[in-house]
Amino acid sequence: MIIVMSKNAANKQVENVLMVIQKLGLEFSVLKNNDKTVILTQQSYDINSDIFKSMPDVEYVVTINEDYKLVYKNVNNLETIVKIGDVSIGAKDIAIIAGPCSIESREQFFKIALTLKNLGIKLIRAGAFKFRTSPYTFQGLGYKGLDLIEELKAETGLFVVSEILDYHDLPYFEKVVDIIQIGARNMHNINLLRAVGESSKPVLLKRSYSATLREFLFSAEYILMGGNKNVILCERGIRTYTDYSRNTLDISIIPAIKQRSHLPIIVDPSHATGKRDLIIPTSLAAIAAGADGLMVEVHYQPELAYSDSEQTIRLEQFEDLIKQAKRVALALERNL
Ligand code: PEP
Ligand code: MN
Repeated sequence: MIIVMSKNAANKQVENVLMVIQKLGLEFSVLKNNDKTVILTQQSYDINSDIFKSMPDVEYVVTINEDYKLVYKNVNNLETIVKIGDVSIGAKDIAIIAGPCSIESREQFFKIALTLKNLGIKLIRAGAFKFRTSPYTFQGLGYKGLDLIEELKAETGLFVVSEILDYHDLPYFEKVVDIIQIGARNMHNINLLRAVGESSKPVLLKRSYSATLREFLFSAEYILMGGNKNVILCERGIRTYTDYSRNTLDISIIPAIKQRSHLPIIVDPSHATGKRDLIIPTSLAAIAAGADGLMVEVHYQPELAYSDSEQTIRLEQFEDLIKQAKRVALALERNL
């Protein structure tokens, strides 16, 4: 375990931490680096590092006996910032990704994307290959959808996020999309994770609806192991006993990830709630909890959307969301 004391921490507080370490019977050494004190100790599974995290003048604690290594915060405490053109995810700005659940036609896709562009949105979400529960529902336009993404990008300069289902399609995705999305159902697909790990494109990794934090981070670890450092995590709701929403937005995973990992984390309130009128409040809560961005499903006429109609918000509602989200971001000294 590495305990990093805050700048100019009081000697008394350093001594307090050392006292607890001694009480636990741990060996330790103390390093002083200019105005910072860093304490190194052994760690065992029965010792919860949280006891140090809340002590006065402790800036942060790095636990090094976790099995995942690359996704974990390192001693430099450097956060990963994923850059897509002039957009940064994981920096001070809250990133907004918006667009339809699925690309339905050229007309639908361009109309939504161009309206969003006029609102200042640069990152568009749009599924070409859809992972649907029922084989009898719309499965996406497939390669035709990727062609439309290519066309949209060339005409508008927008950046596009789209989900890959099969690693054989990686060359097409690499050519066309700006962020490759791994959906919740594929979070455990190791072959796909390994494949995008070797890609030069940023990856948006969605949490499976049944994944623990550890499993989620291990999936990200597979991608980082391949050399791809540009991973954005996405909380999209987990299955619980809820009977009023599609899933339950796990707000607490945002700070929990921030405490452990240097990777940015965004929230998808659309899949998390499944309900149009729950999108704005949960989005605001996500930003308040420290999310680096939102990914929201938007359509000019959600009732007619081929997929996820009930959770897709209208463009006017999206404008309202942005207005309110700006105020929350401002309160946290972040930009939107
Ligand atoms: C999506 O974002 O289009 C999607 C299918 O989400 P998830 O994988 O989270 O269900
Ligand atoms: Mn959807």
